[in-house]
Amino acid sequence: MPRKIAPGVFLVGGEGFSDPSDCLCYGLDLGAPVLIDCGAFPGSWTAIRKNLRQVGLAADQLHSLVLTHAHIDHAGAAARVVAETGCRVVAHALDADTLERGDRLRSAADWYQTELAPVRVDQKIQGEGESLAFPGGVLHLVHTPGHTPGSMCAWLEVDEGGTRQRVLFGQDVHGPFHPAFGSDREAHRASLRKLLALEADVLCEGHLGVFHGQDAVREFIEGYL
Ligand SMILES: [Zn+2]
Ligand SMILES: [Zn+2]
Repeated sequence: MPRKIAPGVFLVGGEGFSDPSDCLCYGLDLGAPVLIDCGAFPGSWTAIRKNLRQVGLAADQLHSLVLTHAHIDHAGAAARVVAETGCRVVAHALDADTLERGDRLRSAADWYQTELAPVRVDQKIQGEGESLAFPGGVLHLVHTPGHTPGSMCAWLEVDEGGTRQRVLFGQDVHGPFHPAFGSDREAHRASLRKLLALEADVLCEGHLGVFHGQDAVREFIEGYL
């Protein structure tokens, strides 16, 4: 069963929701359906699609798939998702090559003993990041290199009973780091400081769950500094 995190924000993939190897994947209602990361295998999409539909998001008309980085557990289903929905793929320029070539080492596909089906990145985010405008809101993308060169986080603001809540999709805040990924610990520390500066109310992590409250979010991020 998918889980509602905040208004228009749903946990739709990951252990307990789709394939256990999948990262946590988040469906957004931005007046158009948007998916943040899509799991490890083409088959992951079957459960994620069902979960999106269950929360009222038109999975077959997915508007955009935002890939926070090129790792297989986040991007392995991307080629299938594009083939079935025609969605636009958004990723940072520095991880785009890994996705477009289906690089087995850079994507960690070899760790999962599988292949990354190459997928075209329609919108390559440059530099420090960009803000994407949708009919129902804005999704801000922030370049947070460290785990991989083109890792990025996303955040948006939602209205929770009259209060603005900042929801941050930090994804692989926790790492890990490996030369094969092009990891950079120094860059990662700078990225964590960027995340702290956002003072998010909710942190949606890539594997370790969802953290509610500014204190809990800050403690989690500081734990990796
Ligand atoms: Zn991951
Ligand atoms: Zn990763």
